[in-house]
Amino acid sequence: QLQIRELSHHYGSKQVLDAIQIELMAGEILALVGPSGCGKSTLLRLIAGLEELQTGEIRLDGEVVAAPYRQRAAEQRQIGMVFQDFALFPHLSLLDNVAFGLGKLPAAQRRTQALAMLARVGLAERAADAPHMLSGGQQQRVALARALAPQPRLLLLDEPFSNLDVRLRHRLRQETQQLLRDMRCASILVTHDPEEAMYMADRIALLRDGRIIQIGSPASLYFAPQSPFATEFFGDVN
Ligand code: ATP
Ligand code: MG
Repeated sequence: QLQIRELSHHYGSKQVLDAIQIELMAGEILALVGPSGCGKSTLLRLIAGLEELQTGEIRLDGEVVAAPYRQRAAEQRQIGMVFQDFALFPHLSLLDNVAFGLGKLPAAQRRTQALAMLARVGLAERAADAPHMLSGGQQQRVALARALAPQPRLLLLDEPFSNLDVRLRHRLRQETQQLLRDMRCASILVTHDPEEAMYMADRIALLRDGRIIQIGSPASLYFAPQSPFATEFFGDVN
């Protein structure tokens, strides 16, 4: 349902993405991994519509959402995003944070749906609390609920667990994967962590210097790395 064709991107004279091709199936979780600065966040921003596409094309459900000089506004793309720093609205209750994305519905319906979504991440009884009253892991659950409440066509997660301690990170991985599967939500998960990619994704795309150097199942990247770089990248995963 997501198709990215021949996407390249420059900042000034520096090329940060080079002829990216990705096809995502319905409900598929794709991990995007690679070293710092290889272009992961830039690619997510281009898909989300937070940055203008220079070269190539992005389609969602067959519809062109981005091509040079033809951009659908970010709000119209029906793409959810979760960031490393949670990015909840500090002055809004948890309920209002989650209801935010349901803007077009009548108030009572927004409330019901937001509560139901909070319940799915185990935080219904905290609905009236402010974000600062929650732990990091709880805040990230709310961010996830907020992103998923409008039933986006695609969810983009940029290093969502890297601000959490190890135990919490493992729990959140598991919970998030379960939630994405239950909602059959196609997603792209950006992570530095090869183990997280192996654990959570249906397929992994390994990015280096703005190019996809290998894409395939976790097993194929682990057992059949096609470059010394891939070997090294996944080498420490047990
Ligand atoms: P990290 O893992 O550290 O988050 P990343 O893979 O997400 O890295 P990007 O943030 O996409 O990398 O950055 C890719 C390259 O583009 C880097 O060299 C970065 O310095 C550069 N870059 C990113 N945003 C801008 C910008 N707004 N203007 C100029 N250069 C930028
Ligand atoms: Mg990044």
